[in-house]
Amino acid sequence: MKVQVDGSWLEIGEQESAAALAKQLYLTDEALALRLNEKIVDLHHPLQEGDSLQFLFFSDPQGKEVFWHTSAHLLAQAILRLWPDAQPTIGPPIEGGFYYDFANLTLSEEDFAKIEKEVQKIIKENLSMERIQFKNREEALAQFNSNRYKVELIEGFEESPITAYRQGEFVDLCRGPHLDRIDKIKAFKILKTSGAYWKGDPLREVLTRVYGISYPNRQLLKQYLTFLEEVKKRDHKILGTKLNLFSFQEEAPGMPFIHPKGMIIWNHLIDFIRAQFDKSGYLEIKTPMLMSQFLWERSGHWSHYQEQMYSFSIEERHFSIKPMNCPGAILYYKSQAHSYRQLPFRVAEIGHVHRQEASGALSGLFRVRGFHQDDAHIFLRPSDIKSEILGILKLLEELYHTFGLSYHLELSTRPHKSLGEQETWNHATNSLKEALKEWGEPFQLNEGDGAFYGPKIDTHVRDALGRSWQCGTIQLDMTLPEKFQLEYKDQDGQLKCPILLHRALLGSIERFLAILIEHFGGKFPMWISPIAIRILPIARSHEEYAFQIKKKLEKMRLPCEIDLSEESINKKIRNAQLLQVNYILIIGDREVENKNISIRTRENKIFSDLDLSIFLSNLQTEIETKAQQSIYTETTF
Ligand SMILES: [Zn+2]
Ligand SMILES: [Zn+2]
Repeated sequence: MKVQVDGSWLEIGEQESAAALAKQLYLTDEALALRLNEKIVDLHHPLQEGDSLQFLFFSDPQGKEVFWHTSAHLLAQAILRLWPDAQPTIGPPIEGGFYYDFANLTLSEEDFAKIEKEVQKIIKENLSMERIQFKNREEALAQFNSNRYKVELIEGFEESPITAYRQGEFVDLCRGPHLDRIDKIKAFKILKTSGAYWKGDPLREVLTRVYGISYPNRQLLKQYLTFLEEVKKRDHKILGTKLNLFSFQEEAPGMPFIHPKGMIIWNHLIDFIRAQFDKSGYLEIKTPMLMSQFLWERSGHWSHYQEQMYSFSIEERHFSIKPMNCPGAILYYKSQAHSYRQLPFRVAEIGHVHRQEASGALSGLFRVRGFHQDDAHIFLRPSDIKSEILGILKLLEELYHTFGLSYHLELSTRPHKSLGEQETWNHATNSLKEALKEWGEPFQLNEGDGAFYGPKIDTHVRDALGRSWQCGTIQLDMTLPEKFQLEYKDQDGQLKCPILLHRALLGSIERFLAILIEHFGGKFPMWISPIAIRILPIARSHEEYAFQIKKKLEKMRLPCEIDLSEESINKKIRNAQLLQVNYILIIGDREVENKNISIRTRENKIFSDLDLSIFLSNLQTEIETKAQQSIYTETTF
């Protein structure tokens, strides 16, 4: 019979299984599952004449999902062999690995190795996975009658048929798909345990959640564990405290206090953005944080976003704290008449917005209740869209490039539920596409993923650990200008309604700060460093010279400290290095006598007998060029 594999027709035997076909085609056992006529199924799934197949591997997101889902079953099987009274509930794959929730099980970290050993034993048993299809709900209930959680799941199922998977003695309720053989899992590790409510409901019992990760080879597992260690080391919540950049207080949950050292980075970021505003023709405004509920009703925020807004009454009038800056910018636009000659009219605001987030969703600076946006609203004519987008992409590239962050763009088009004329949508979407094509970088197209008021371009930056973060966004809006009856006088003398473009490049400044802390692992480049220089006089007699140097550095507006503590010089060096100080200046007899300096870098490189003025001019260059690397490395010495 004939089937199509990746689009080309192939003749295969009548009884040939997908697993055997994959082995023949790829000469390995690495295929994990099958996309069969757009549905993902097991490699065991029977094939039919005319089927269209695509094999899935670990490198495919859906391949990983099948792999990790099967691994969750493997984990449950091992746990049941060791603790037969434990009751498995649910075990899904997640972003990095999988978990399984158990009732009647208590584990400590000492048990992890035992479980992993049992897992390896099961893998060696070479078990194949068998799909079981129950005749009806009663048959499924009979199979799982000793586990009341599975019974509750089965009773809640609307789908039919109900299916399960068997591997050796272990049968688990599951719709699949799964690996065809357990021994495709070569590397397996338990990561952690935590408590979790049954069905996520805080009124129900707490279960033991066991997290794990697995790979088709040991090398990948090793890489992942190294990555996890690095993530932990760079955690912005830990570094933020250690470097004294910011804190959270019980009195203001989800609203950060930025400390003086954090403000040094913050202000450099703001300066950078303001310089971009200036050279790109933006006007900066500041609009009230608290505005009348009528405004939010008119903008549509009240009907769409009410739940995330902080609202209250003053003298019997209702007000809300702004969750977004748009209406403020619009009121400013409306405060004057506009001619087509003034368009695009670019209004920027570093606005402080507040949004209600559930306390469980809060996460350091990544997810907060109060944050600042580097927002801008641009009022323009349809014919301006393309050139304006190109201008914004240029700003965006300059910004991310400066921090050594790579990025990619995603274009999202008209969703099913949306407002406005098709013609307007077409023009807007085509202008975005044309701009992106002219920009020349590849972009991802997300059909139907745009906002209800217009198409958008999102930017995702990639940090030093390869993690991706959504940051900037460029959104066209054909709805708000109409709601607020915005106008400009066009060339033909007619009053017309402009298009509104919302754009943010950093997104949330708090969140971007967190990304930078983790991206640099606390080792900030000189131009944004919270402690650029620390001077260490070896003895009292060296302090005067140390202060002379500090004065010079302060003239250059460099954050500089002198360590006057009683610690030994080695301890002082170590302390400065732990704080990721860019340059540690050591002042002893020789330096005072020769009026020069010796430096130590945070990478522990030593440079002696440096001329102070040359050092200062090198620093100046490092700052002006916003260099990501120190000038003082082995190669320049
Ligand atoms: Zn499953
Ligand atoms: Zn906006």
